[in-house]
Amino acid sequence: MLTVNELKNVKGKVIIVRVDFNVPQKDGVIRDNNRIVAALPTIKDLVDKGARVVLLSHLGKVKHKETPEVVEAQKKKNNLSIAAPALAELLGKPVAFCPETRGETLTNMVQNLKDGDVLLVQNTRYEKGEEKNDPELSKIWASLADGYVMDAFGSAHRAHASTHGIPSILKAEGKPVAVGYLVEKEVANLTRCVDVKDGDRPYVAILGGFKVSDKIKVIESLLKKCDKILIGGAMAYTFAKALGRTVGTSPVEDDQLDYARRCYNEANGRIVLPIDSVCTNGFENWTEKITTNDSNIPDGFEGMDIGPKTIALFTDEIKKAKMIFWNGPMGVFEQNDFAKGTIAVCEAIASLNGAFTVCGGGDSAAAVKQFGYKDKFSHVSTGGGASLEMIENDGHLPGIDVLK
Ligand code: ADP
Ligand code: MG
Repeated sequence: MLTVNELKNVKGKVIIVRVDFNVPQKDGVIRDNNRIVAALPTIKDLVDKGARVVLLSHLGKVKHKETPEVVEAQKKKNNLSIAAPALAELLGKPVAFCPETRGETLTNMVQNLKDGDVLLVQNTRYEKGEEKNDPELSKIWASLADGYVMDAFGSAHRAHASTHGIPSILKAEGKPVAVGYLVEKEVANLTRCVDVKDGDRPYVAILGGFKVSDKIKVIESLLKKCDKILIGGAMAYTFAKALGRTVGTSPVEDDQLDYARRCYNEANGRIVLPIDSVCTNGFENWTEKITTNDSNIPDGFEGMDIGPKTIALFTDEIKKAKMIFWNGPMGVFEQNDFAKGTIAVCEAIASLNGAFTVCGGGDSAAAVKQFGYKDKFSHVSTGGGASLEMIENDGHLPGIDVLK
């Protein structure tokens, strides 16, 4: 697979770069420009080489099945023009914006680019065909370019026109397609978690978050590769119930009980479950908070976080690890009272010496950042869903495989 670093002779060439500028925003104000910052190395590299850079990205959702009024409102809300001045400031040079996703305006703007110029195109999801990987749309976009770079890791698990259609056409035409610096780094780090070397054992996975059903494939993939899997968060209660423990009013997926039991048995002692819980008599307006003595939860209470004995048990297992993959918070970390388990896992991972440690998953990565541990990890993935699918699919993602 070619990397942007290896792309030579791009001076004067039009290179489409698929970036992830799906930034959190409200009323046209960008609340966090991390994703734009993350794309800078690739954009700068191409600018320095004299390429004519055309950036494509989606922003939010546009549901084309809704009424025309709703679609218009969604387009207005997700207008990508806000990213152009933000990028220009970070790059220290002007960034042109094309308000159209196809047609004469776009063609002219691309044709008028000079070497080293940067053009950002309107939200790819303004096009109905984007999420359908529509061949006609892909052809229109591909016809603008002499080459393609994929640097939108957060979108690499989707086979859309901008992530899959364009590079397949360009590749077939013998034009260069490559990964950008951000994707290269993500792939290298996450591949190490699925392609396990002896030196990386013991390999400990930590899983949490809300639903077992969201993560069945992740659990299965990790079961094949890990020496231990520590399970916390809400999903632990489905396992607890499956093993005959009482769970009170904790969130449980009854249709996953058989699956959880089978998994637990197949794991042969490698799945470690909580041995105590912090519980409340309600999710939000609770009045009583207790810590259980064991893995049973009394009637009328629901588990909100792992308890102190579980923290000690999990910390012990983490301390032995040479490699860690973590997905999913240990409790309702958004509420201060139930952030202890998640922070303790951060702390245990941070205190490891020389281990390779990765956190992937939207909410878990947000927790790691929020609690100030981002720099202590070998890698915190920028792609929520993409990082999980990379683990699930043994290192394969459609938006990356297409470049090989
Ligand atoms: P990720 O995005 O890291 O993959 P998930 O989306 O699966 O993680 O889950 C994150 C959510 O799970 C958080 O909002 C958190 O509050 C919730 N959660 C964790 N533990 C519990 C629990 N015991 N009860 C209810 N919700 C929980
Ligand atoms: Mg999530």
